[in-house]
Amino acid sequence: EGVTWGLLSRPCHVLVLLNPQSGTGHALQLFHSLVQPMLDEADVAFTLFVTERPNHARELVRAADLSQWDAVAVLAGDGLLYEVVNGLMERQDWQAAIKKPLCTLPGGSGNALAASINHYAGNTRAFKEELLTNCTYFLCKGLHAPMDLVSLSTASGKRLYSFLSFGWGFISDVDIASEKYRQLGNARFTVGTIQQLAGLKVYKGRLSYLPVETSSSVSSAPGSPSEQNSHHVPCSNGRPLHILPQPAPRPPHEGSWPEDSLLVPFDQPVPKHWTVVPEEEFISIFAIYQSHLGADFAMAPTAKLHDGAMHLFCLKAGVSRLGLLRLFLAMEKGTHLDLNCPHLHYVPVRAFRLEPFASTGLMTVDGEPLACEPVQGQVHDQLCRIISG
Ligand code: ADP
Ligand code: MG
Repeated sequence: EGVTWGLLSRPCHVLVLLNPQSGTGHALQLFHSLVQPMLDEADVAFTLFVTERPNHARELVRAADLSQWDAVAVLAGDGLLYEVVNGLMERQDWQAAIKKPLCTLPGGSGNALAASINHYAGNTRAFKEELLTNCTYFLCKGLHAPMDLVSLSTASGKRLYSFLSFGWGFISDVDIASEKYRQLGNARFTVGTIQQLAGLKVYKGRLSYLPVETSSSVSSAPGSPSEQNSHHVPCSNGRPLHILPQPAPRPPHEGSWPEDSLLVPFDQPVPKHWTVVPEEEFISIFAIYQSHLGADFAMAPTAKLHDGAMHLFCLKAGVSRLGLLRLFLAMEKGTHLDLNCPHLHYVPVRAFRLEPFASTGLMTVDGEPLACEPVQGQVHDQLCRIISG
């Protein structure tokens, strides 16, 4: 697929959504002292909207007349951009709305997309004000590129759109448990990791996926209900989590959502050419679609904005605490795969299904919590657009 770059016209008008609570609580101050002077200089006009509560931004972009703005920027963490993406997808005119160029200006404690875009642009790693300056500079330049989104569907009928990650187990626990350390900014993840290492838990479930390699060699669409996969092991050491399959949720309007052509309903086994992981005990399952999970956390160094892949990491039970600590410390430089840890499995995938055997632990989507239940998802190539370097 070709990549179409775009450029914001000049002068242009940008909606800036700002979460005053994100990160260390200085986003508004940072806007006035750092962002605004650069936008003024570059002839970028803006409308500033300061959120008052969770979902405020989501409701705004769901209903607003988007034609007033050339781009929608978010000065916050990844959580607020996640609201924006989902708010846009809830619109009747989602097909046009989701093409509005988005922009991440890092002001939160989790700024994974900003760190990733900084990396894609070839910059050395940057933190805090320096990262914010780089990202504001990208907005001033106005170059935007397509970005893949992942659609996630749950057994109880939720449907979500995600630009960053899906996770379960250790890494998600760190993300959620470290919320209370948000005053520490970026360091919250390091503190959280060490804390979670003390009470390491095992999560049981079945993981299946469609590797990128397989998907490019299989020409026919999966379509028909598949027969039992040959690796498909009946669950022995866990009870399958029974949730009655719900009809696919309908969008609240006429236009249908992008079709999940790679997925079959939860009551059917995954298509035959998928891989079913034989092990069913995990420390963490984590799919990341960008290079960085944090400014100093290069989880998938080869990932790109539109590589058509989720980078799936599966950390199997049996890894020692020391082994795990080593892996996480190596992630700072992105060298964790070089350690050849036998418990860490990495594969780029187009789609996956995760069926937990019990509803233990939280799942996370782009760092935001999701109640634990069966989930499946697939990549939608170049569905949205993002200001990039
Ligand atoms: P951080 O990176 O610090 O977590 P985010 O921007 O990701 O910052 O926001 C964290 C959460 O705060 C998100 O779930 C978002 O919906 C919510 N939120 C947005 N605006 C507000 C607000 N004004 N007050 C409290 N929470 C908010
Ligand atoms: Mg967040």
